[in-house]
Amino acid sequence: MIARLFGFRGGIRPDSHKKESSGAPIRPVPLPARLVVPLIQSSRGGARPIVTVGDKVLKGQCIGEAEGKTGTAIHAPTSGMVSEIGRYPMAHPSGLESPAIVIAPDGEERWIAHEPLDLATASRDELILRIQASGIVGMGGATFPSHIKIGKEDNPVETLVINGAECEPWITCDDRLMRERAADVVSGAMILRRLNGARRVLVGIEDNKPEAIAAMTAAARARMDTEAADGDARIDIVTVPTRYPAGGEKQLVRVLTGIEIPANRIAGDFGVQCFNAGTAHAVCRALVHGEAMVARIVTVTGNVEHPGNYEVPLGFPVAGLLALCGVKPGTDRILMGGPMMGFTLPKLDAPITKGSNCIIAASPELFPPAPPEQPCIRCGRCARACPAGIQPFDLYWFSRSRNLDKAEEYHIFDCIECGCCAYVCPAHIPLVDYFRFAKSEIRARDEERRAADQARARFEFHTFRLEREKAEKAARLAAKAAETRANLSAAAKADAAPPPSKPPT
Ligand code: SF4
Ligand code: SF4
Repeated sequence: MIARLFGFRGGIRPDSHKKESSGAPIRPVPLPARLVVPLIQSSRGGARPIVTVGDKVLKGQCIGEAEGKTGTAIHAPTSGMVSEIGRYPMAHPSGLESPAIVIAPDGEERWIAHEPLDLATASRDELILRIQASGIVGMGGATFPSHIKIGKEDNPVETLVINGAECEPWITCDDRLMRERAADVVSGAMILRRLNGARRVLVGIEDNKPEAIAAMTAAARARMDTEAADGDARIDIVTVPTRYPAGGEKQLVRVLTGIEIPANRIAGDFGVQCFNAGTAHAVCRALVHGEAMVARIVTVTGNVEHPGNYEVPLGFPVAGLLALCGVKPGTDRILMGGPMMGFTLPKLDAPITKGSNCIIAASPELFPPAPPEQPCIRCGRCARACPAGIQPFDLYWFSRSRNLDKAEEYHIFDCIECGCCAYVCPAHIPLVDYFRFAKSEIRARDEERRAADQARARFEFHTFRLEREKAEKAARLAAKAAETRANLSAAAKADAAPPPSKPPT
């Protein structure tokens, strides 16, 4: 048990809209005609294809090897044949294309042989390598590679936080996962605890998920009973007040531990590591059952006939998923992610990836169009709602006027794009859109500067090399001239010398 909970700064209480999708159990989906599996499904690196067109693959077989230390592998989501390798539209606000492997399913769902690890004998390095090879990334949407997050052994961790808050409205995939697969979530949490050496494990779940809290509490008790709880095996399920964005990493750490993580710092700096409940589940499936990450639970909700949670193979087309759920007339756009932090999908043939937690069919009835934007009246409501402790109205002016240096100075990169400021703004200013724009401009500017610096360095080195070669050539010529002069002078001296006298006969 933890002694007390702490509050976090800012936040809002929007309508949760959880009931629409949380009532029914997780459902499977039929296989589509093709699965487009992106090679980049992590925020830090991608995979390099290790199959070619025409190859037969089994479900769970690695088809893309992790690139470098930060990359994560990708696997065939079903058995079938590699039908294409190319670039395809992705689930991104830009609709840009990205490299992917296309699998034509054979309908047999034949798994590659499962190779679970023996947790009792496997070393820490073996476990972490398996996590990377199984393609595990943060399932809360951030897709940060889990093997990198676990970090090095000498990085002391006091508390492992499992994030089951799922604070964003409409999304219920973690809720259903914890209700139905609590034992695997707890098992994954205990593996993560072993890897980072945390003294305690805290699972934070918002109080609007009583069934998930009950299931996780029972699973944690069962686990502690079988392990003859000695203090080290403790895992506490903690009910936290529903308040958006309690599921933000810094906010949940604050609520559970009281630690306030300042700007430019991460939870790890304060001895806390945080993983999503879905990530803990994936770790268990990979290590205990030998299953790579080939599917995820996706909430489909909003203006659809059959809202709910679906277990969807990675690479499944969003359009196909919506067709299964029956999009109702009046839908005017499709959101990926929740209404606060998600984005409108420009192309529906984009595939479901490891970070796709929710698809919402939006209609004007469910999401009335925002009234026209008005000038900022500097009321300060946005600052009071901001959980990151920054001044959104200042950032708004700097972003709007493209004063990028000032935006950086006022900590725009501490903004977690939670949308609280825009939610409370009486002037209906789409503040997060401004901040996303400014961040992308700053990144582009920094990239340009880096490229210019590299070009300048290359030019300076080229000039230096030419000068050096010129100087070396001049030195060589001077040396040669000196040598020639010395030779000539020696020859002249030899000519001028008197002939040797005749020896006496
Ligand atoms: S809430 Fe809106 S109107 Fe008020 S200060 Fe912030 S940006 Fe301006
Ligand atoms: S979107 Fe950014 S600025 Fe706005 S409330 Fe959230 S963290 Fe603060």
